[in-house]
Amino acid sequence: MDVPIVTPVIPTLVLEPPAGSSQPTQRRLDLQATPDVPANSFVENNRINGMKLTFINPMLKNGSPTACLQQNAVDIELKKWANAVILYVIGDNPTIKYISTFVDKQWLCESKPEIFLYSEGYFLIRFGSVEEKERVLCSGPYTIANRPAIVKGWSADFNFNTEILKLIPLWIKLPNLPLNCWGMDSLSRIGSTLGNPLFADECTTTQNRISFARMLVEVDVTHPLLHKVMVEDPHGKAFEQVVQYEWEPKFCDTCQKLGHNCVADVAQEHRRRTKKIWVPKVTVARDTSAIPPPGVPSTVTGDSTLVVSDPVAEG
Ligand SMILES: [Zn+2]
Repeated sequence: MDVPIVTPVIPTLVLEPPAGSSQPTQRRLDLQATPDVPANSFVENNRINGMKLTFINPMLKNGSPTACLQQNAVDIELKKWANAVILYVIGDNPTIKYISTFVDKQWLCESKPEIFLYSEGYFLIRFGSVEEKERVLCSGPYTIANRPAIVKGWSADFNFNTEILKLIPLWIKLPNLPLNCWGMDSLSRIGSTLGNPLFADECTTTQNRISFARMLVEVDVTHPLLHKVMVEDPHGKAFEQVVQYEWEPKFCDTCQKLGHNCVADVAQEHRRRTKKIWVPKVTVARDTSAIPPPGVPSTVTGDSTLVVSDPVAEG
C-alpha cells in the first residue's frame, strides 16, 4: 500500500481579463508563465463537486506505465454494485422512463431500484438488497414492449464495450427427469452440461410439480443450443435427458448480435416467398387450332415442369 507520492507538475492557470473590457474573463492554461494566482486555486475551485485525486506513481510493466489497482479500493466499488443487474431488451431501445415504469409495475420492489442507462439498450438496475435482486433474477423470463428482455446479474468482468451479450440466462425444462435426480447436486451437474446453472425454480425446489424440473442456466448462445444431454447414474448407467428452452434466442454469427440470424432469416424469407407449382406434362399439338387446357401456358412442352414463383414479387 505504501506507494511513493510524487508531486506532479500542475499546469498553472493564468486569469487574463481583457484590459478595460467588461467581457467574460478569458481562461488560458500557460505552462511557462509565472503564476500570479496560487497554483492550487484551479484545483480548489473545481473539486467542490468532485472527489480529490492524487498522483500515484505508475509501475513500469513490460515497458508500459501501468496503474496497479489496490484490492481494497476495488472491493469498495464492487460492493456498491453487488446488487445490480444488467437489463437488455433485444431489438429495441427503450427509454429509461419506460424501463422505470416497467420496473415499478412488474417487480414491485420494497425500495425503489436505481436505474442507469448505459448505452444502446443496456441498463443497469441496482436493487436495495441481494434478496430483491435474486427474486427478480429468479422470476423471469421477461418481455418488455413485446420483446424478450435479458436480465442477468452484473459482475465486475462484464464489459459493456467489448462484450456481445452471449452468456444469457435461459429458463430450461427437463421433462420426465427421474425423481432421484432432483437434488441440488444432481441438478447442478445436469445444468452444468448446458452452461452455468443459477437457480432451480420454486416448484422444482419444493418438488410440488414433478412432471419436469425447471432451472435458470446461463448459456453461451453463440453455440448451438443442446436439446439432449447425457446423464449417468452412480452405477454408470446412462440415459439421455431431453432439454426444452422456454425461449431460444437467435444469434447472428455475421453481425455478432442477438435477436436475428441473417443467414437463417434470409433462407426463411426465401421459403416464405417461393411457391412450388407442378405443371402437368402437356404435348402441344401441331394443330394450331388445339386449345391448351385452362391454366396451362401454350408454350409448355416436354416433361412436367417445376415453376417457382414469387407471390410477393408478383403481387
Ligand atoms: Zn445479422
